[in-house]
Amino acid sequence: MAENPKIRTPIVCVMGHVDHGKTSLLDRIRGSSVVSSEAGAITQHIGATIVPIEAIRTMSGSMGKVPINIPGLLFIDTPGHHAFTTLRARGGALADMAILVVDINQGFQPQTIEALQILRNCKTPFVIAATKIDRIHGWRVNENESFISSFNKQNERVKGDVENKTYEIVGKLSELDFSADRFDRVADFQRNLAIVPLSAHTGEGIPDLLLIMIGLAQRYMSDELKLLVEGPGAGTVLEVKEERGLGTTLDVILYDGTLAVGDEIAVATQVDVVVTKVRSLLKPRPMQEILTEDRFERVKSVAAAAGIKVTAPNLEGVIAGSPFFVIRGNRDEVTEKIKREMTEIHVNLAEE
Ligand code: GDP
Repeated sequence: MAENPKIRTPIVCVMGHVDHGKTSLLDRIRGSSVVSSEAGAITQHIGATIVPIEAIRTMSGSMGKVPINIPGLLFIDTPGHHAFTTLRARGGALADMAILVVDINQGFQPQTIEALQILRNCKTPFVIAATKIDRIHGWRVNENESFISSFNKQNERVKGDVENKTYEIVGKLSELDFSADRFDRVADFQRNLAIVPLSAHTGEGIPDLLLIMIGLAQRYMSDELKLLVEGPGAGTVLEVKEERGLGTTLDVILYDGTLAVGDEIAVATQVDVVVTKVRSLLKPRPMQEILTEDRFERVKSVAAAAGIKVTAPNLEGVIAGSPFFVIRGNRDEVTEKIKREMTEIHVNLAEE
């Protein structure tokens, strides 16, 4: 996260119908950045993975010339609507953006429509990943190439097939009042949804997808969702875990601000709000260091967005899904805010 620590990493969630390829797409995105340069190597966080901008530039080659000022993208490791709707922030969705995966050969399915409704209600910017293009009969694979470059090498029949299948998706979206087009034909990404044909198995189209996500983040977030990391940390508790030698720990996604060892934090238990002091902040070690004894690397502070394990006294009884805030002289205000958010969460759960 070298250049500009003040800029927040946007959080991305992958959604879509079961078996349409959400997990494969996430795996491919994470896998492809492993081969990129050291500086751009991915970092595994708690519950999330950061794909840094250098890795995205390397993958996208000459396409990656657009001026970019965000540090990368943080992908939530658990795909699906459940993660999207239960991981909450500021009363809305934790994810700033989403990728809606649609199997290009199967088209829309019930959970595709559900996901669209959720994204619309939350006003979350998203793109459609029309995946499994390698399954189109006669498709000739050009590993990791951009969609357009690979598409141009296909024969006319295959091209026609891709066009027809893409238009079926455009048509379905239009029935649901979304104006969409293949990404290379979209002039205004704020008005039109971009459809990126791709394959998680061959990597084709993935550079395009990542660049479009970056473009969306820059356009939407710079004015609407605030892209700067400012002030005390705010996050969501993903999991509460007992770890040998560490006691009860919290796996947290920090979506805003900064969090440091020694910070006073507040989180919810079933019945109350706990205020405690951060003892340590732990990140998973990079793959190549997995053989060292300690599975975690200790860091002094983190900036949003990040997935981090927090150790502190008195975490027993904290509940997953709780809001998480750093206190900076505003203890009563923070405690009240947590109580309010927990009530909202309970009301929402009761309504579901
Ligand atoms: P999820 O349920 O949405 O997470 O779907 P998965 O990622 O588990 O994928 C479901 C099946 O589709 C698996 O057998 C994958 O190997 C396969 N699959 C996913 N993406 C692709 C793709 O791009 N091309 C091909 N040929 N198969 C894919």
